[in-house]
Amino acid sequence: MTPKRLHIAIQKSGRLAERSLDLIGSAGYRLTKSASDLAYSAENAPIDLWCLRDDDIPTFVADGVADLGIVGRNVLAERAAGGGNGLHEVMALGFGRCRLAIATPAGFDYRGPQSLRGLRIATTYPNLLKRFLAESGVDASIVIMRGAVEVAPRLKLADAICDLVSTGATLEANGLVAQTTVLQSEAVLVRATRSVDPELERVADSLLSRFRGVVASQGAKYVMMNAPSSALARITEILPGAGAPTVMTLAGREDLVAVHAVCQESVFWETLEALKEAGASAILVLPIEKMM
Ligand code: ATP
Ligand code: ZN
Repeated sequence: MTPKRLHIAIQKSGRLAERSLDLIGSAGYRLTKSASDLAYSAENAPIDLWCLRDDDIPTFVADGVADLGIVGRNVLAERAAGGGNGLHEVMALGFGRCRLAIATPAGFDYRGPQSLRGLRIATTYPNLLKRFLAESGVDASIVIMRGAVEVAPRLKLADAICDLVSTGATLEANGLVAQTTVLQSEAVLVRATRSVDPELERVADSLLSRFRGVVASQGAKYVMMNAPSSALARITEILPGAGAPTVMTLAGREDLVAVHAVCQESVFWETLEALKEAGASAILVLPIEKMM
């Protein structure tokens, strides 16, 4: 019997494709591409990847054809809002960040969801929009489109849109402005709610803990410095997103300590200057490769 392999569905091409492969690579899996370009195999673990349209990923995972999938939360949420079940989000992956938002023509006097009453709103996310309108107590009609939603107001197909926004540049180019957020999204790891083959559960557990390690270390820095013991409280306050720092004595110095901390947010020059001002010296900021 050939040994079983864990199957992960990822986007074939598009905004999430490369970052999904990077994540799997950073988790230590060495990938070889299949001749067809539609699959990858890990050389050093029983894991295969399937490359699909992102819209197909939830169905593949829910049906058990793939065990795990990487997809935008927006795709998963739209399916769930439409009554689709059998799937859940295991973890957020920290890339592909965007929001599903209501956008209106730049000159429109928008004062919140109430301003949408009686309007036509174009979207490729009808289930999420329907739920948002219901929760806001607003009656409006939904124009379902397959894509290019941002041109709908110009073509007089709709008065407003509900679409994904990251920088807002596409909206701006079409004379639109993002207003209320309907959903915050980023790439997420999904799995089926039914149980995975026990033989593969170990492989999945290991993959999950490696993914957690990679995601946690993204943007994290290891900061080291010397500081007067008297300035410790102030310095801890300045360190961005750090837990309790490690404090060590310095040989032959009663007045100074060494402070080490893992910071989750990016450490900017302003932070370093503030640390110096508080009395810190010999400040080192190091990247973190892995965290478990
Ligand atoms: P496919 O060919 O796989 O169907 P697609 O055109 O539906 O691709 P992409 O445009 O590649 O999808 O977007 C994939 C995901 O990237 C989105 O579902 C969303 O989660 C995320 N994303 C991040 N920023 C944006 C953005 N500005 N616009 C659209 N999607 C974004
Ligand atoms: Zn798609």
